[in-house]
Amino acid sequence: MSGILVIGGGVAGSATGLALQKAGFEVTVHEAHPRTGADIGAFLTLASNGMQALAQIGAAGPVAGHGFPVTGMRFVDESGARLESVPLGEDEPSLHYRCMRRAELGAALQEEAHRRGLALRYSARLVALEEDDKGVTARFADGSSATGELLVGADGLRSAVRVHLDPAALPVYAGQSIFYGYTRDPAAGAGLEPDTLTMVRGSRVLFGCLVSPVGETFWFARLRGPAVGAEEAAVTPPGTWRDRLVALLRPDRSPAADIVRATEDKLMVTNAVRLTPGIRWHSRRVVLVGDAAHAAPPATGQGASMAFEDAVVLAKALRDAPHREAALELYAHHRRPRAERNIAVSALLTASGPPDWISIANARGGRSTLRRLSHLDEGLLRQLDWATPLTAPTAPTAPTA
Ligand SMILES: Cc1cc2nc3c(=O)[nH]c(=O)nc-3n(C[C@H](O)[C@H](O)[C@H](O)COP(=O)(O)OP(=O)(O)OC[C@H]3O[C@@H](n4cnc5c(N)ncnc54)[C@H](O)[C@@H]3O)c2cc1C
Repeated sequence: MSGILVIGGGVAGSATGLALQKAGFEVTVHEAHPRTGADIGAFLTLASNGMQALAQIGAAGPVAGHGFPVTGMRFVDESGARLESVPLGEDEPSLHYRCMRRAELGAALQEEAHRRGLALRYSARLVALEEDDKGVTARFADGSSATGELLVGADGLRSAVRVHLDPAALPVYAGQSIFYGYTRDPAAGAGLEPDTLTMVRGSRVLFGCLVSPVGETFWFARLRGPAVGAEEAAVTPPGTWRDRLVALLRPDRSPAADIVRATEDKLMVTNAVRLTPGIRWHSRRVVLVGDAAHAAPPATGQGASMAFEDAVVLAKALRDAPHREAALELYAHHRRPRAERNIAVSALLTASGPPDWISIANARGGRSTLRRLSHLDEGLLRQLDWATPLTAPTAPTAPTA
């Protein structure tokens, strides 16, 4: 028995596999789904901190081959009048925010993993795990099993690994359903500024949209109210959601209703959920990364970027700490405050609604909360920098008399 088992080959799992491989560990990633390039629908933005983390494991290039850069955010009111504009991210082009489909991001990371010879098993769904002094064993739905020294739970929002560590830690609905769509209708994106996320603080719906360099408009709409049930989501045709949204957006004079109306079938719905801070992140041989540890509503757009930070910091901790248990403590020490702050800020933004939307720009005393989450200050740069050892917290010095 040797090596590290990563459960989940999504955004966090693929990046963690690459980081652990770079740190010299023998690692196998076990992904529940078969290998497929299917687009599951939604898009996301990667922030400067996420691009910096990817650069540390040599994966920024492959990812930057997808999507398009986003350098600013513009808020308008329900009449379409500009309220405020804020810059997004670092000035360095390689660290610009990028917007892309989630499936493109996942596929880019998995391709890179294959290119580097990282062991990535598909159709391997974890159903149980056991740990003791000798090792940790993962059992899969197909009857196979694998044993290693450490198991990393990168299995997302509904993590089976988290259930093993902390069975009571379940995601809770954060109060918004979120709709995503795309349209290639040139009229829909005509008034949008390139490289800019436009946020419409509508009278009933918070709406966001971007136009890609090839003229495709990506949009989302966040609606406060009861969660959309799984069955309702599965059986409701996209056209029905579209008509309901258009009816809610139409009283406003922003471009939102026309953009949604121009959308054909590329429309999906999901619920914003979050984990409660303070859950158990690790045992002696099992540790969580990504959404499994700190799922947040998407309001700050930091979920994937936080997962990339986890990947780098966990690999550095295992590389630099004197032993495995110290490494897991070190990882949680560095990552928990930042990841849980993202949950708190995202939850605050998600709870806000019309007519007093809290914008990301003024959620905290007029300073840009988003900028502070993505800003590469010296501490974060040191934490992520591959060449800089990850240091243990220093004991507080005794007060002098
Ligand atoms: C609609 C939506 C919009 C979002 N927008 C943004 C955004 O703009 N910016 C941003 O940064 N983030 C955004 N996020 C969040 C971001 O997508 C997540 O934070 C990120 O995908 C987390 O990655 P993950 O690998 O932890 O989880 P996932 O991406 O969910 O990957 C988990 C993987 O584990 C696999 N898996 C699950 N269970 C098992 C099992 N038992 N055995 C083996 N494998 C298993 C799954 O098949 C999957 O491949 C958004 C999320 C959603 C839902």
